[in-house]
Amino acid sequence: MTDFVRMSLEDVYKMTESALIEQGFNGRHAAAIARTVTAAERDECRHHGLFRLAFYVNGLQSGQASPDAEPELTQLAPSVIKVDAKNGFSPLALETGDQPLADLARSCGIAALSVTNALNVAALWPEVEKLAERGLVGLAFVSAAPYVAPAGGTKPLFGTNPMAFAWPRKDKPPLVFDQASSECARGEIQIRLRDGKQLEPGWAIGPDGKSTTEPKQALLGAQLPFGGVKGSNIALMIELLAGPLLGDVLSIEAGERDKANTGAPCGGELIIAMDPTRFIQSGDREAQLAHGEKLFRALLDQDGTRLPSDRRYKTRQRTAVEGVTVLRSLYEGLQGYIARKDRQRAAYEGDHILKS
Ligand code: NDP
Repeated sequence: MTDFVRMSLEDVYKMTESALIEQGFNGRHAAAIARTVTAAERDECRHHGLFRLAFYVNGLQSGQASPDAEPELTQLAPSVIKVDAKNGFSPLALETGDQPLADLARSCGIAALSVTNALNVAALWPEVEKLAERGLVGLAFVSAAPYVAPAGGTKPLFGTNPMAFAWPRKDKPPLVFDQASSECARGEIQIRLRDGKQLEPGWAIGPDGKSTTEPKQALLGAQLPFGGVKGSNIALMIELLAGPLLGDVLSIEAGERDKANTGAPCGGELIIAMDPTRFIQSGDREAQLAHGEKLFRALLDQDGTRLPSDRRYKTRQRTAVEGVTVLRSLYEGLQGYIARKDRQRAAYEGDHILKS
């Protein structure tokens, strides 16, 4: 039987922060990563919660991630800013660019933040949700490492390349979706490998190019884009937006750079923020938001539907009170990091192990 430990969100945060500091991150990086990990646990997005700690630690211990790089903010054009993460993990760089991007979107109507040289193993919804909480519309795109075969092909080329979108709502938390352009996130395959579960048909092909439901074969072969050629084209777009557009790498290049197979690719992320009232002449924000609500009501009128992020907000209310359940093995890994017993590459059942 699987053994779980219950933790409060405060404990998740404190233990994560302590573990990262003991493993060598400075306080600012440890706090920013701990906020990201805790938010994922809070929303039960477990691929990006405590499960990811080993990836952060491996990235650091392999020498590929900086423990203390100070992100540098520069303005590239009237409505374009850049944060160079200088090979640090993405959370601190994203926090550095967040308020300047929101301010620029308010003054220009639309603004973009280019985050470069960032190791990214996180979900994207936090950056767009934060923008929409301040009344802005947000979009985010990131590439990864070569995991996904293009439609019709059999070899990994694209990252799992997620994109996220957030829309502000009156007196309600924003509508947010955040999804990979592959049939499933890589973390889901890694978690199923760990838990001894099969994949859904159509998610992946093995190294022989044939369909597989075996997680290990999928990690050695290639994931598939969602919706065939349509998801493949979205992944292609994200490669261009997060790579060449920002002067950063493609997923295939990020994979080549990750010599230690840490599973923590270093590359770019594009975030776009829009101030909705700057797109209408009337400036009637109330009417604009009400118009969006008409769509949401019509959608919800149909049985079997829900809005993206509804699950997240319901979960958030529950975990604030009850805390979260964490696999005992993850909990013990966290304790080991704090005790500095494991100040080395963590032994995880992820693809960085399979490929190394
Ligand atoms: P999911 O398939 O779990 O969910 C995708 C989106 O669909 C979510 O916003 C979810 O909202 C929404 N959704 C789910 N069910 C419904 C429904 N019935 N009706 C309407 N909306 C629904 O996500 P993925 O597996 O594709 O991606 C998981 C995460 O992995 C993402 O956060 C992504 O950013 C991250 N990722 C990160 C990468 C990186 O390199 N950094 C690479 C690839 C992925 P809800 O939350 O409410 O369930």
